[in-house]
Amino acid sequence: MTNTTPPPAAGSAPPPASRPDARTALGWLHTAKFLTTAAQLHHLPAVQVPEIAFVGRSNAGKSTCINTLTQQKQLAFASKKPGRTQHINLFQLGKQNTTDAVLADLPGYGYAAVPKQDKIRWQQVMANYLVSRDSLVGIVLLCDPRHGMTELDEILLEVVRPRVEQGLKFLVLLTKADKLTRSEQARALSIARLQAGGGEVKLFSALKRQGVDEAAQLLWQWAHPEDQESGAAASPPA
Ligand code: GDP
Repeated sequence: MTNTTPPPAAGSAPPPASRPDARTALGWLHTAKFLTTAAQLHHLPAVQVPEIAFVGRSNAGKSTCINTLTQQKQLAFASKKPGRTQHINLFQLGKQNTTDAVLADLPGYGYAAVPKQDKIRWQQVMANYLVSRDSLVGIVLLCDPRHGMTELDEILLEVVRPRVEQGLKFLVLLTKADKLTRSEQARALSIARLQAGGGEVKLFSALKRQGVDEAAQLLWQWAHPEDQESGAAASPPA
């Protein structure tokens, strides 16, 4: 195949990359602000921008991951306040009072101390959200590789599979990677890749900042598909 892209003129900027640099992506994520919280799907506002959901078993490292990606110490811990643990919490992203994407923090599942009725209710809210939320463009599943994918993770994968087959983005982050040796990391990656059914799998450690840049860049790409087509992804904001 012939490459039709003209070479850059001498002294001009390099050709547009297919993904933003990490600084751009992290700067964008740092703009995250609490938007709203809702216990029921129909209480969530409809949003007109791409929405990315974070899901995972309780204690998988979801709050730490959101706080690390947004570089805000407390953002996702707001989701752990009494009364909000069974809520969907939305955070808006965008510079200068614009909103160009939304992050959705879904409650952790599988917490033993939650009464059975609440668990069932919650699983239904979450399944409905994942199946029917129109603005949803991507899902980040947080998984502690020392426990592997649990039965509830597998159920979630089944629920989202039809949407992933239709183009919904899907990323599995294997959290707390600093707790694994290199060979354990490699093993966890290959097992999760088999299970992730077409989704991407990456190692992540908030402690060692492993995988942070890559995850940020991927989320930016999910939220700005049009910018990549036009090549604007390479230009950091002024
Ligand atoms: P959540 O319930 O999924 O929101 O999980 P948290 O973010 O609260 O994390 C659960 C526990 O895992 C906490 O004790 C965190 O300090 C710890 N943790 C989270 N991320 C990491 C990491 O990257 N490395 C290590 N070593 N511990 C982590």
